[in-house]
Amino acid sequence: MTHPADSVVRRAAEVLAAKRADAEAELAALEAPPDASGGISFGKRVGDGTAIAVERLAQVAVHDGITALLADVRRAQAKVEDGTYGHCDRCGAAIPEERLDARPWATLCVSCASSSA
Ligand SMILES: [Zn+2]
Repeated sequence: MTHPADSVVRRAAEVLAAKRADAEAELAALEAPPDASGGISFGKRVGDGTAIAVERLAQVAVHDGITALLADVRRAQAKVEDGTYGHCDRCGAAIPEERLDARPWATLCVSCASSSA
């Protein structure tokens, strides 16, 4: 087993911590009650509701994306902790550093990630 260099893991840990904070803040903003952000309220014209509903749908999609990302980030952080960071969760193969560079939260090698997609 080839492990990523310590410097790679340390850098990834920093990126993951920052990414997690970002994602959690975005989720908190999305989960805030609509009223708090000027959403649905009485007294608006009919039709505003439709636009708001569409906007909510878009937010749900964004929310799902962030939730999935956050799960990956947490998993990657756990892998840093237990020393398996940089190895595929499914097959155990080393994940190339270029991939970790682009997606520090990657927990699957390229072939496992593409076969699960
Ligand atoms: Zn794999």
